[in-house]
Amino acid sequence: MEKTDVLVVGGGPGGLSCATLLAEQGMDVVVVERKPLVGPKVCAGGITWHGLIRLVPESLIERAFPEQYIFSDRQQVVVRNDNPIIATVSREHLGQWMADRAEAAGVRIWTSTRLITCGGHQAQLERQGRGRLTVEYGHLVGADGSNSRVRRLLGVPTLQTGIGLNAMVPRSLPQMQWHLCPRLFASGYAWIFPHADVSSIGAFADRRLFSAVHLKTQLLRWCEERRLRLDPDDLRAGVVNYDYRGVCFNGGYLVGDAAGLASGLTGEGIYPALISGQAVARMILNPAYPAGELANLGKKHHRHRQMVMLASRFPRLGATLAEFLLLLLKWKVIDFRTLEMAE
Ligand SMILES: Cc1cc2nc3c(=O)[nH]c(=O)nc-3n(C[C@H](O)[C@H](O)[C@H](O)COP(=O)(O)OP(=O)(O)OC[C@H]3O[C@@H](n4cnc5c(N)ncnc54)[C@H](O)[C@@H]3O)c2cc1C
Repeated sequence: MEKTDVLVVGGGPGGLSCATLLAEQGMDVVVVERKPLVGPKVCAGGITWHGLIRLVPESLIERAFPEQYIFSDRQQVVVRNDNPIIATVSREHLGQWMADRAEAAGVRIWTSTRLITCGGHQAQLERQGRGRLTVEYGHLVGADGSNSRVRRLLGVPTLQTGIGLNAMVPRSLPQMQWHLCPRLFASGYAWIFPHADVSSIGAFADRRLFSAVHLKTQLLRWCEERRLRLDPDDLRAGVVNYDYRGVCFNGGYLVGDAAGLASGLTGEGIYPALISGQAVARMILNPAYPAGELANLGKKHHRHRQMVMLASRFPRLGATLAEFLLLLLKWKVIDFRTLEMAE
């Protein structure tokens, strides 16, 4: 039997940010991660200026884009800024950097270890090739992503999810592009996010309207129309949970995708994972902590969710709204921040 003050399930950005802050304040923290390596994840690796770019070391930035090219059926808008609006990072490098910081603060990270079940301040873990282990904890944090087992064990339902597809193609394309194309993706979109030597090409859509297979067909059609070369076998799918119902439940906390904090509109989830991870750490350290940052995140999240609901229920209205949104961006009535999760 092992003992720890806090058991964090999941070594993604949400779990590691939470664990690091707790360990820096003197708590004993164990992070369990089912994969053998911290970091790799189906993701386009886009981080925003108002959210994260300034928080990660420059060496992690693969490419930075002060210009965003946004296309719809009727128009093309170029949004320019003095600072990079979005940069790209490798999830593997970001994960390793965060894991190093966590370990330097004293966090124990157990890779190849997965949570089987938990309750009554005890968790059953399975360590690959080394059998089962029981851990007794003071607090439990579910940071185990969109298919969160902790969320299920806490009895929190998940009804609103998006589906994302991503492939890393072996060339760095010149522009960062967003393609709103209701004909193919309804309220979703396709993207090109160039990295240093590769480019992420993918699509995100509402899971009520698209299965992974359906979205794949649409994305391949979109690539064909644009003469973009993409090997279908390179595509990887991932669910994005945006069914946010709070972070504090009877028996434990949820952060990041496990809490449903990714944007239902864009799929952006790294920033919400980091912010919610830190907020939950502060709540554990001080139960009276007001967590204003979560309230702000919740408001933005709610606005994004309302836009998706509207576009999914009334597709024509959604398409018109998308064109209107682009006009507002073009006329600089709103800025790109409206689409970002950061305030
Ligand atoms: C195709 C696609 C593209 C995306 N692109 C972007 C983007 O460009 N920018 C952006 O901000 N967001 C993007 N996202 C969303 C982003 O990837 C997530 O929101 C973010 O990773 C959430 O972080 P997290 O720490 O909450 O969860 P994750 O990063 O999912 O981490 C959860 C961890 O928990 C582990 N785990 C799961 N179950 C268990 C278990 N039982 N026991 C132990 N460990 C477990 C997993 O292995 C994983 O490492 C994208 C998502 C998809 C699907």
